[in-house]
Amino acid sequence: MPTPVAGTTITVVGGDARPGLSGVSSDALVAWFAERGEPAYRARQVADAVWRGDATTAADIQTLPAALREGLDEAFRFDTVADTELRLSDGGLTEKGLHRLADGALIESVLMHYPARPGQRERHTLCISSQAGCAVGCPFCATGELGFGRDLETAEIVDQVRHAARRLAADKKRLTNVVFMGMGEPLLNLDRVLAAVDALNDPRRFGLGARHITVSTSGVVPGIRRLTALGPQFTLAVSLHAARDALRDVLVPLNRRWPVAEVVAAAREHAAATGRRVTYEATMIAGINDTELDAQAMADLLRGDHAHVNLIPMNPVAHTPWTASPDPVIEAFAATLAAAGVTATIRRNRGQEIGAACGQLAAERAGEPAPAVVARRRARLVDESAHALRGERSHEPAPAGIGE
Ligand code: SAH
Ligand code: SF4
Repeated sequence: MPTPVAGTTITVVGGDARPGLSGVSSDALVAWFAERGEPAYRARQVADAVWRGDATTAADIQTLPAALREGLDEAFRFDTVADTELRLSDGGLTEKGLHRLADGALIESVLMHYPARPGQRERHTLCISSQAGCAVGCPFCATGELGFGRDLETAEIVDQVRHAARRLAADKKRLTNVVFMGMGEPLLNLDRVLAAVDALNDPRRFGLGARHITVSTSGVVPGIRRLTALGPQFTLAVSLHAARDALRDVLVPLNRRWPVAEVVAAAREHAAATGRRVTYEATMIAGINDTELDAQAMADLLRGDHAHVNLIPMNPVAHTPWTASPDPVIEAFAATLAAAGVTATIRRNRGQEIGAACGQLAAERAGEPAPAVVARRRARLVDESAHALRGERSHEPAPAGIGE
């Protein structure tokens, strides 16, 4: 059993208790060397090898004395991703990565390339996961259907970025943005997510500005409040999907614990305290949350706020009775918001043909549920949404395991 390192959490993952090196803070690494009577520049050497070099074990850092290399390998893992399967789509503009972790857990990340256009430099955005699976269980989301697996370790979050950055560096390109919009609810794994954001921000490690990082939440109110107290760490995006509680109870089951008015109030306080605009996301589902009544409810909810809404046609995922709203319907929804002074952008999803709605590849690997199970699930969703559209609130409890 290696000696625990200050500032890191050690969890036995797949029998490997060593923390991933990319999740270890610069100060903790300096302290590790200091305990061995070594100067701080050793930590810098290792961080460089991890972040800018190709070191996969300590043996690759030839400039370190052999005893230190051995100690490093005993104390830390250089990589927490066992292997990655890449799938390309959109003519190579979207790269979907399915990563296997040490214990066999599968997570996904998506790298999206946006070529330069007038007034905008080229961008390379990586969408990363914070958990394997998700406890929230939004029915239109492939990850939600998988259910909760486990929280990711800090290094497991950061290594998704390290891998993508390395692929980009091979093409002389740099990662410009990171969004926590992959698998999992980041605010239910907030300690690790904050440590990962630290690693991404830290100029001695990845060095990506806070403005280039977005964290999306389905509405974990205590988590939003904690972020507000910390001050601006990154851009906060809130997955709204519906402004009416009855419908949001079905689309985002967390709403039964923290209703939409509380979520928006917390987001509003966050915007006021940090001076940063909150982005809301709404996945548009035909005939469910795209009606004029819903547009009006959302406009009323956000009127006068320093907010922006992204309207995203639902990615077709298996096992729902639903499809994406047609473009003209989404345009009308955006117009209703605009009339109330709420700005809205229509965002079309990338990579649909490779299943880029996060969770789809992992769901594929989990195997197809029995037809009877799928049929029951579809029937339940039809029934629940019919009640919700009549304004009747759900009597189902909030999902288990979402904390207080
Ligand atoms: N759990 C967090 C972050 C991960 S999900 C959250 O819910 O905000 C990231 C975004 O993808 C969310 O806005 C989510 O609603 C959206 N999403 C999930 N499944 C989708 C689908 N099938 N089509 C379109 N958007 C989807
Ligand atoms: Fe979880 Fe977000 Fe998917 Fe909802 S949309 S199930 S919160 S990952």
